[in-house]
Amino acid sequence: MECYICTQCGTQYAEAERPPETCQICNDERQYVNPQGQQWTTHARLKRAHRNTVRAQGAGVTGIGVEPLVGIGQRALLIRGVDGNVLWDCVPLLDDGLAELIQAAGGLRAIAVSHPHFHTSMVDWAHRFGCPVYIHAGNRQWVMRPDPSVRFWEEETLKLSSGMTLIHCGGHFPGSAVLYHNRDGGEIFTGDTFHVNPDRRTVGWMYSFPNYIPISAATVERVVRAVEPFEFRRIYGQWWDTVVADDGKDCIRRSAERYVAAIEGKYERQEEAKRISRGA
Ligand SMILES: [Zn+2]
Ligand SMILES: [Zn+2]
Repeated sequence: MECYICTQCGTQYAEAERPPETCQICNDERQYVNPQGQQWTTHARLKRAHRNTVRAQGAGVTGIGVEPLVGIGQRALLIRGVDGNVLWDCVPLLDDGLAELIQAAGGLRAIAVSHPHFHTSMVDWAHRFGCPVYIHAGNRQWVMRPDPSVRFWEEETLKLSSGMTLIHCGGHFPGSAVLYHNRDGGEIFTGDTFHVNPDRRTVGWMYSFPNYIPISAATVERVVRAVEPFEFRRIYGQWWDTVVADDGKDCIRRSAERYVAAIEGKYERQEEAKRISRGA
C-alpha cells in the first residue's frame, strides 16, 4: 500500500494498492493534466531524488521549497510566532535534514493551507510533527488523503495562536483562506487568494491562474472585504520572494479598483477614446 503523489500538482492521495485513475486536482479547470499523461510518485521516491531548500523570506519567515521542482513548484513558509511555529502552505517533500532542523527550532504548533493546490503531503508533515492541519470546510471535497490530523474550520475567522488568525476569503476556491500575523505592523500570507504580481506593488485574482479564467468583480470585492478589518503592511504571496514590503492594505485597495475597472471595460474604452481623438 502506498500514498501516491501526482507529479504534476504534488497532491498526495489516500493509501491504496495502485495509483488512482486520474488526479482530481489536475482534472479541475483550475489546473491541467500533464500533457505527457498522468504520472505518479511516492514520498519515498521523492526523498531519493529531491531535497528541500530553505531561504529567508522576511523577518521570522523562512521559505521551504523542493529541488529539483516537483508539482507546481510549491513553496511553503515557516512562520515563527511568540507561542510557536506555524507552517503556512505545504510542499510535497519533507526530507530528514529539514525535519530535524524544524524540530530543533521547536517543531510545529500547526499547519494551515491556503487552498488545495498546496495540500500536497500535508498529512505526512502533520504526522511527523504531531500537529493539526487547518483546512477551511469550503475545500473539504479537495482533501484527497483524509486523516484525523485534518481539522476543518467553518468560521469566517479562526484564531490559530495569540498573534495569528486564519481568515476565510473564498475567490479562487470556495474555501480559500489567508493567514494574518499581528507582528510589526501586521502581515498577511495569501497563497494565491491574493496573487502578488511581479511588480510586488499590486495583487491580482483568478479562478484559474494557468488557464487565465478570471473571477467576477463582485467576488473580488467580497475577497477584499474579508481582510479589511485587519491592519497589515506586508503581503507574502505564494511563490519565492513575492513579498509586498509595505502599504499592503493600500496595495489591495488600488489593485481591486484596477481589476474591477478592467473587467468592466475601462482599458478598451481608453483605447477607443485615443482612436477617436486621433481622428482615425
Ligand atoms: Zn494532480
Ligand atoms: Zn491555486
